[in-house]
Amino acid sequence: MTWRFFSNMAPVVKKFDLLVLGGGSGGLATARRAAEFGVKAAVVEEGRWGGTCVNVGCVPKKVMYNTAVHAEFIKDHKGYGFDVDVRGFDWGAVKKSRDAYIKRLNGIYESNLEKSNVEKIVGHAAFIDSQTVDVSGQKYTADHIIIATGGRPVVPDLPGAEHGITSDGFFELEDLPEKVVVVGAGYIAVELAGIFGALGVDTSLLIRYDQVLRTFDGMISKTVTENLETGGVKVVRRTQVSNVVKEEDGTLTLATNSGIIDKVDCLLWAIGRVPNSDNIGLDRVGVSVDKHQNIEVDEYQNTNIKGIYALGDVCGRYLLTPVAIAAGRRLAHRLFDNKENWKLDYNNIPTVVFSHPPVGTVGLTEEEAQRKYGQDKLKIYTSNFVPMYYSVLEHKMRCNMKLICVLPDEKVVGLHMVGQGCDEMLQGFGVAIKMGATKAQFDDCVAIHPTSAEELVTMR
Ligand SMILES: Cc1cc2nc3c(=O)[nH]c(=O)nc-3n(C[C@H](O)[C@H](O)[C@H](O)COP(=O)(O)OP(=O)(O)OC[C@H]3O[C@@H](n4cnc5c(N)ncnc54)[C@H](O)[C@@H]3O)c2cc1C
Repeated sequence: MTWRFFSNMAPVVKKFDLLVLGGGSGGLATARRAAEFGVKAAVVEEGRWGGTCVNVGCVPKKVMYNTAVHAEFIKDHKGYGFDVDVRGFDWGAVKKSRDAYIKRLNGIYESNLEKSNVEKIVGHAAFIDSQTVDVSGQKYTADHIIIATGGRPVVPDLPGAEHGITSDGFFELEDLPEKVVVVGAGYIAVELAGIFGALGVDTSLLIRYDQVLRTFDGMISKTVTENLETGGVKVVRRTQVSNVVKEEDGTLTLATNSGIIDKVDCLLWAIGRVPNSDNIGLDRVGVSVDKHQNIEVDEYQNTNIKGIYALGDVCGRYLLTPVAIAAGRRLAHRLFDNKENWKLDYNNIPTVVFSHPPVGTVGLTEEEAQRKYGQDKLKIYTSNFVPMYYSVLEHKMRCNMKLICVLPDEKVVGLHMVGQGCDEMLQGFGVAIKMGATKAQFDDCVAIHPTSAEELVTMR
């Protein structure tokens, strides 16, 4: 009788100071930082701890990028005098180690929450009202609620599209496919096509226009498109898929405006991502979203509803892990550490694309700088050279660099580069540009020789 009495009672609403929806990059960083200030914080997660970056994004992607870079180095061994007999490549072996690494990370993220005294709540969170969230029938209330629910990849609405996979499915592949079609021109499409290409897969990249990475500086788009082709990826321009058929032998036949592509083992859609804002009860609280369903926030991550904030991919701006983390940590300081004006400055965010070779970019593109300052106020420095690494090799991958400076003092407002090592080169230059460095200050830094990076402080 007693048991029945209690089971019929509505569950007690649990109260926190801070409730974070989403245990990904942004959500975890925010909750843990807030807990440092003695705040009673909880994070709700419906999937694996760590979110996109750890499970189906940056981390497993970088492992596969490193795998692909290995394949490239093997080709260079001979030029460096090594007679190495490589008998094959075991995709399953690297997947196994990668999955084990991710599992370790999931555990570390979870135990970090415990160490920080942040309560973990498992399940799907949805708003009931502006201060109450439901997770599997249990209600939670908090004065401050942060939406950090991230996003998910888009599958197009066309017949047979479901036979394709997305970047999420890429990480589930048990075998290396023989023939792949990647659809998309953004950085995820470029990176995944590049990995397949470097591993010797027959890879086509279908793009709507003529170049990949179209929002990047023109020099980057052009060079990366060319480098994909040099690396063996067939870039199929001005092409869109209209229909996908799964054949009896399991392969896919794609109808496109440029003709039929058949015998495809793996079709990968990398055509963009949508925010996870559609199934969290936003309509019940009136949080505003834009026409792409991104949550609208001001520069302090405030939504239009008092006490509700949003950050990271769900806001649709700079879909990058460190951006979500930085915005979240600053918000935690603002809300609970009396740093009233702390907010993330979204200018000069450095970005890398793990293409082959990689891209590093920070600041304005030349096109953006022209619009902002006018062509006559700009001085552009460029450099195009073969890095020394290739000096003893038959094949050469050039390095392209560009500095965009604004007259009269030649403040550097944009730095773009693509070439070997540019991924690791960027972070330090990002600091200089964030500090407002001029070309003269770049030049005042003595070069490190012999490196590719020295070019950035010796351009004339
Ligand atoms: C293939 C790929 C490669 C990438 N590579 C890079 C890279 O190299 N560098 C980089 O900086 N960024 C990279 N990114 C982007 C990066 O992963 C994201 O920008 C980052 O993860 C965003 O963090 P977030 O906290 O906003 O969201 P997420 O990390 O996506 O976390 C959101 C979490 O919320 C959970 N969730 C959603 N809805 C609910 C709900 N209703 N209730 C409970 N939980 C919910 C989800 O399960 C998820 O765990 C990559 C992304 C992809 C897809």
